[in-house]
Amino acid sequence: MIFQLFFALCRCFQEPKNCRRGNTSTSREPDFGGTENENFASSPATLTDYESLLKKNEETCKRYSFTSGWTKVRVLGEGGYGKVFLLRKKKTKIARKVVLSQPTECGFSSEEIIHIQMSHPNVLKLYCWEQKANILCFNLEYCSRGDIASHLVDLDEKDAKSYFKQLLDGVAYIHARGIVHRDLKPENLLLTKDKVLKISDFGLADFFIVNGREIRLTEKVGTESYMPPEVLQSHRKKYQGPPVDLWACGVIFFKLMTKRKPWSRADLDDKEYKMWARERKGLYKKDAWKDLNKASRTLLNLLLEPNPTQRISGWRSVCHH
Ligand code: AMP
Repeated sequence: MIFQLFFALCRCFQEPKNCRRGNTSTSREPDFGGTENENFASSPATLTDYESLLKKNEETCKRYSFTSGWTKVRVLGEGGYGKVFLLRKKKTKIARKVVLSQPTECGFSSEEIIHIQMSHPNVLKLYCWEQKANILCFNLEYCSRGDIASHLVDLDEKDAKSYFKQLLDGVAYIHARGIVHRDLKPENLLLTKDKVLKISDFGLADFFIVNGREIRLTEKVGTESYMPPEVLQSHRKKYQGPPVDLWACGVIFFKLMTKRKPWSRADLDDKEYKMWARERKGLYKKDAWKDLNKASRTLLNLLLEPNPTQRISGWRSVCHH
């Protein structure tokens, strides 16, 4: 039995993609002791961590009895994947994401294993997950202001800058753990009642550091308008992890500041993107761009650099701008 478990864990670790689920692509804040995720988060997962991660997950779910005593208050969001509900037990609120998903061979997917390790003020907390037959539930920190996408219209510059700074902090933490998110966009950035930004949805995240070595990625995943050119062209060449998220941060920054997307696709068939890639001056005369000051344009030049090897990589340099 122990050997079977050991070999199953080995398989999951060496081939994390085998444990990816096919269909996950797409008041008072609860205090569950505060240390659950911190325990999970001591360092990026290693082979032997998986067993303890699974055990701790089970214990957390049991200890806080996520399965009983909660009242469904309302639906927070829904899509092809399933639904997100607001649940309440006395004064405590949590969000529960329910998706239809076959159990994987390992009993977990990279989404759960990646998300449960996270413990940072700007990353949404996953308290625990539960799989019953083909229903998968994520018990999550509740963010009463919902996602940033629904606040874009009335967003002022001060808030936009504060959210962008918090996004950078969260992304720096995720990257420091050898993980790339790959689906950063306003819909996946949630806000608490105190305007704290939380990065959510690790359904497309992956390890870019495996066994201490940086690996390149191949899958064309994410949301097209936030994808950098190297992901759109990933059928030709493998790509590095972190520059993908930095590009998405650039598109998000543009959207926070102008309420628009800079282009539909970072592809030379797209008129706006072609102007960006070839000759930026023409683009700067266009509506959304002309309102951006010099510092914002400089930052966008660094984040939206088409060549991923020349894209800004040091977080301190991004923050400096
Ligand atoms: P998702 O499938 O995770 O992208 O969630 C879909 C939508 O549900 C989001 O865009 C949010 O508006 C809402 N939502 C998801 N998770 C939460 C949460 N933890 N707290 C509040 N709203 C959420």
